Amino acid sequence: ITKVKYVDKIHIGHFEIDAWYFSPFPEDYGKQPKLWICEYCLKYMKFQHTYRLHLGQCQWRQPPGREIYRKSNISVYEVDGKDHKVGTCGAGPTSGGQRGPTAMGQTGPTRVGQRGPKGGARRSGETQEKESPDGNNVACILTLPPYQRRGYGKFLIAFSYELSKLESTVGSPEKPLSDLGKLSYRSYWSWVLLEILRDFRGTLSIK
Ligand SMILES: [Zn+2]
Repeated sequence: ITKVKYVDKIHIGHFEIDAWYFSPFPEDYGKQPKLWICEYCLKYMKFQHTYRLHLGQCQWRQPPGREIYRKSNISVYEVDGKDHKVGTCGAGPTSGGQRGPTAMGQTGPTRVGQRGPKGGARRSGETQEKESPDGNNVACILTLPPYQRRGYGKFLIAFSYELSKLESTVGSPEKPLSDLGKLSYRSYWSWVLLEILRDFRGTLSIK
């Protein structure tokens, strides 16, 4: 079944972004030509005036949960969906991948925030799945279009493997990969192999 995509654009932070794919927003939110999304709490709204009102009231300046990693302007937060039933992936499928959203607040997404000049962290990307019965270390990976081509996707992928290493498990992303997911993982593994080849002295073969 082809689902009709009504939401053409989302407005998030300073950006207006074209929506690429269908996303199952509830009720008539999914029938709006444009949704307004708070870049801090990811609340989505139908009208600009509610959005403006919300910006004045929203207390959030960083994602919820525990900051588990920070280096220069990148922070990673561990968020448990049980504690924070907030909009996680609503903006995801619209602008990033083809996969439908994990039901809000089901399992724990890990989020990346780009630290802003004022100390706040805005959302630039996120991955999901904290506990996976299938051994997936990533269920959904997203870099918002304005932040693409800056290495955040590669960072998220590398981070997911680092988490698996810490847990001494073998992890891989949930399959099937979306088209963009496939591109990102191919690019990531090419990069890993090239790094190995660059530093290796001697003979080696890659199977
Ligand atoms: Zn907000």
